[in-house]
Parts: sequence; C-alpha cells; structure tokens
Amino acid sequence: MEWGLHAALGRDAEAVRGRTVDRGVARRVLGFAAPYKRMIALFVATILGGAVLSQVPALLFREIIDDAIVNSDRGYVNLLAGLILGAAFAEALLAFGERWWSARIGEGLIFDLRVALYDHTQRMGVSFFTSVQTGALISRLNNDVIGAQRAMTGTLGQLVSNLCVLLITLGTMFIILDWRLTLLALALLPFFVIPAKRVGRRLQALTRRQMEHNAEMNTLMTERLGVAGALLVKLFGRHDDEREAFAARAGKVRDLGVRTAMYARVFMIALTLLGAVGTAAVYWVGGQLVISGSVTIGTLAAMGLLVVRIYQPLTSLTNARVDIMTAIVSFERVFEVLDTPNAVPDRPGAATLGRPAGRVELHNVRFSYPPADSAALASLAPAAGDASHGTDPSADSERPAGPALDGVSLAVSPGELVALVGPSGAGKTTLTALLLRLYDPDEGTITIDGHDLRGVTGESLRSVVGTVPQDPHLFHDTVEANLRYARPAATRHEIADACRAAVILEVIEALPQGFNTLVGERGYRLSGGEKQRLAIARMLLKDPAIVILDEATSHLDSENEAAVQAALAAALAGRTSFVVAHRLSTITSADRIVVLEEGRLAEQGRHEELLAADGLYAKLYRTLLRAEVAR
Ligand code: ADP
Repeated sequence: MEWGLHAALGRDAEAVRGRTVDRGVARRVLGFAAPYKRMIALFVATILGGAVLSQVPALLFREIIDDAIVNSDRGYVNLLAGLILGAAFAEALLAFGERWWSARIGEGLIFDLRVALYDHTQRMGVSFFTSVQTGALISRLNNDVIGAQRAMTGTLGQLVSNLCVLLITLGTMFIILDWRLTLLALALLPFFVIPAKRVGRRLQALTRRQMEHNAEMNTLMTERLGVAGALLVKLFGRHDDEREAFAARAGKVRDLGVRTAMYARVFMIALTLLGAVGTAAVYWVGGQLVISGSVTIGTLAAMGLLVVRIYQPLTSLTNARVDIMTAIVSFERVFEVLDTPNAVPDRPGAATLGRPAGRVELHNVRFSYPPADSAALASLAPAAGDASHGTDPSADSERPAGPALDGVSLAVSPGELVALVGPSGAGKTTLTALLLRLYDPDEGTITIDGHDLRGVTGESLRSVVGTVPQDPHLFHDTVEANLRYARPAATRHEIADACRAAVILEVIEALPQGFNTLVGERGYRLSGGEKQRLAIARMLLKDPAIVILDEATSHLDSENEAAVQAALAAALAGRTSFVVAHRLSTITSADRIVVLEEGRLAEQGRHEELLAADGLYAKLYRTLLRAEVAR
C-alpha cells in the first residue's frame, strides 16, 4: 500500500512536469470562472494600477536627488516628498482593492464548486456510498476545493500580478532609468533561477504528498471516530494497535511538514540573496558609471530601489508552468468527482410516476452488486487487498460468487402484504433495494402498475414507495424536523396524527422538550423500538402506496412489541407491503410468503400452503417457532 502510494506520487510529479494543459479541463475551469468576468476585469485593473503606482516613488526619489537637492529647492523637496507619500497611500488602497476582488472571486468559486460537488454526490446511487471512504470524499469536498480556489486566486492571480509588475518595472528600468544596469541585473538571474526551479519542483511534490498523507490521516480518523468504528475498536481492544497505526500516519505528516518548511526556507533565502547580490552589482557597476558621469546619482538610487522588485516575480514566473499544472490537478480532482456517473440516473424524458394502485411485478430479475471500484472513483474506494481498512469486514469472506438475485419473478396485487423470508444473505434486502431503484437489475424488469422503474424519475418513485429500515437513521435535529423531512408542508395536526397511528405520540410528548427534543447521533437516545416507530410515523406522513419494511426483532422488549405491532398494522393497512419478516405473527398473517434462497425464489404462497408443501419454508418455520418458544 505504502509503496503503491509513493509510486503514485512519483507519477504525479512526473505527470505535472511532462504534461500540457488539457484543453477540456482548461475550458471547464474558464466555465467556472465565467460568472466572475467583471470581477476578474476589476481585479486585473487594480493590479495594473498598483504596478504603475509602485514605480512612482523611485522616480520621485530620482527627481529629489537629481533636481530638488542639486538646486537646493526646499519647496520642490516638500512637494515631491508629499507626492511620494500620496503614491504610497494610493498603492495601499489599491492593494486593499486587489485583495477584495481576489477574495470575492476565490470564495465565490469555492462556494460554486462545493455546492456542485455536494449536490452531485448526494444524488449518486447508493453503490457510490457503499464503495467510497467517507473521509476521502469529505477531503475532496474540503481540501481539493480549497486547492482549486488557491489555484484560481493564488496561483493564477499571482501570475497576472507578477507579469504586470515585472513588465512595468522592467520597462521603467530599461526605458526611463538605465538600460545597461537593467541588463546587468537580468544577467545575474540564471545563476539563481535554475537552482530555484529545482527547489520549487521539489517543494511542489512535497506539498502534494503532504496533502495525500493528510487525507489518509483524515480518512482513518473519520472512520475510527464514528460511533460504529469506535465501538469496533473497543470491542476488539485494539487501542494500542490503533494508536500505532495512527501515529505512523501522523508521523509521515510531521516529517513531510519539516521537510516542506526547510525547502520553503531555502527558496526564500535564495531569493533574498539574489536581491542583495543584484543590488550590490548595480551599485558596483552603477557607481563606476556615476563617477565617469554617464549616470546620475538619482538614477542609480532609483535603480537600487527597483532592482530588488524584479527578482521575485521573475523567479515565480519561471515556475509558472508547474504552477498552472498543479492548479489544473486540483481542478481535475474536483472534476473527477463531478464526472463520476450516477449508477441509476433518471432517463432523459423519464416519466413522473403518479400515485399507483400498487401492483408490483418482477420479471426474471437478475442482479449482482457492482464491484467496489466500478461504482465509485478508485481513489476514493478502500484500498484493495487492505482488508483491515474495508468498511464491511463481513462482506469479503461471505460473499458468494453468484448474483445476489437470480431469475426472480413475482406478481403482487395492490394492497397485498408480502413477507420476504429466507436465510441471511438470501437476497431479501437486495430485493427491497431494487424496488426503491437504489440499483437497476442487470437483467429483467421491475414494474409498478405496469411502469418499468427504469423509465420513471427516482424522485417520483421514492415519493410513492415508503420505507422503514431495521435501524432507521435520524438526523441530529428535533423530532419534528426529522418527521417533517418526509413532508415539509405537513401541519402540526397531521404530524400528531401520524405519531398517534405509529403509537409514538405519548413517548414524544413525554420527552424533555416534546417535539422540539433533539434526537439523532448526539441527541436524545430513543430506544430501537421507539426509533422504528418514529420512522413509521415519518413514513405515514408521506402516505406512500407501497411500503417496504425491515422488521426489527432483536432489541424489542415485550412492552414495546405490542406498540410496534400496532404501529406496523397502521403502516401496512391498505398499502402494497413488502416486509423483510422475522416475527412469526407477521409471517403467518401475510397474504403471501416469498421464500428466497441464495438469490433465487424458492417458494411462494400462504402459510398453510407452504407448510403443507414441507419445503424450505416449513424448515425455516420450525426453526423460528423453536426460537420464539425459547424466548
Ligand atoms: P438478506 O437481506 O436476505 O440477508 P442481502 O440482500 O442483504 O441478504 O444480501 C444478498 C447477497 O448480496 C449477500 O451475499 C450479500 O453478501 C450481498 N450483498 C449485500 N449488500 C451488498 C453490497 N452493498 N455490496 C456487495 N454485496 C452485497
């Protein structure tokens, strides 16, 4: 893994050096910059103004020395000193303006990119989220977007600024002051530019590696500090190993930080040295010219002031190509996420599914989960062969080679209650995921009231299919906000009704702040059964025609059980329902029991029929019966 990373980084540095700007990417960057055209024009105008103004003091100094002092004109000295002061203030004002525009452009761009990325990623199919590492994704949304912003206002802004300052200063020196001394100052340049370029490249590669290592560290933190990850560490008592692993990653960040700091300093020192040598050379040769009378003292003084100003922009500009390429890489990383296709996109011209009667049909459905790296960016996916960092430790050993669903056909009438049963891993959850079109079948079709799910919009589908998962997620927000998530426009009355039907109203009213109590990750802890009833209430508010319900059994006590039963009855009444069933009472009372085994539909029918057939269902039933009696 480590070796792979280094190799990849080596390639990156190479890629930056040897590449030309990809026109497509450049055009896209310009596309993002387009709304800021006016601001960019103002930004460039302030830079130009600042560069011109920055020449004024040196020229006025020359005037003071060569004219005012020589002629002992005190009034003129006063006037010129005043003008120098004025120019300095005006320049400061322009610098302020320049920063104002660059900040507005930069922050505006960050905003645009971030919102575009967020919007794009949260519309992605679930397969995207099950196969990317959240930390790496968040790092893209944060660091790379900031990288792209820096590239835009930092690198590109600097480029424009350096170019303006350089051309105008060189022009002043060459045309107004003394061309011989100007050439002398320029002749020194190669001695410094070549080593500086090398250091600059090294610095860039180091910075990039630092970013990668930071992202790696963040990924580890996000995963281990989430509730589930933290619990796993505790359960297996792996604190010491975790510390080691974390320290190893943090150590890399530290070492790179030290090296980057040193390289950056070498760069600065070289530049300061160049300025000093350049000034000395100008005074040395210029001094001779003044003595021989071909240059005035004022001109020499002005040259001394200006010569230090050309080295910094010149050195930066020699690295401009690498700078631009690095900037482009930031944008590319952002675009890469934006370009990840949605696995289940809405077809062009997809129809809106109106409220259906609720007839659901599966025709010969076959489906395999996509391999992790095809569903998302390879660079965001957990490292292959690095099982300890995988998100689902159980997944790799148990996964069979065959498809998750194979040749499943089913016709469910409106209002029917279907219990999905079968051993763990049989494909029950997968079937419900396909009904929600979280994935598309590889073969076969699924229809609701005759409409193929591939031809309807995801939004309209999910507005008619309600779902209550086994362990429902609540956002860290108030009870009311969580309920309203299903239907923002619901009235207080409707919310209370839904809660009453889901047998959760009394529980909510007894909470410290009633409907305003914070729940979710860091909020009030509802029990598993309460959470599920709240989720049922949320689903009822949506009033879907079709319901998918993953029945929870494990964490319920007997008092809760009655409440959940009542809530379930309310949830399922009059709707086509698919229940991943674990309770005997739910299974035996179902209109139809669908038995799955290794992705295939093994049996279907009513309880009595299947029992009489004495197949897989009869076996499962006897196991469940024994388990319930034992409880
Ligand atoms: P059940 O709900 O009946 O226990 P599932 O539908 O969850 O079974 O799983 C069916 C098969 O698909 C299992 O072999 C499981 O390992 C696999 N599977 C489930 N979810 C995923 C996923 N996100 N990625 C890859 N394979 C999966």
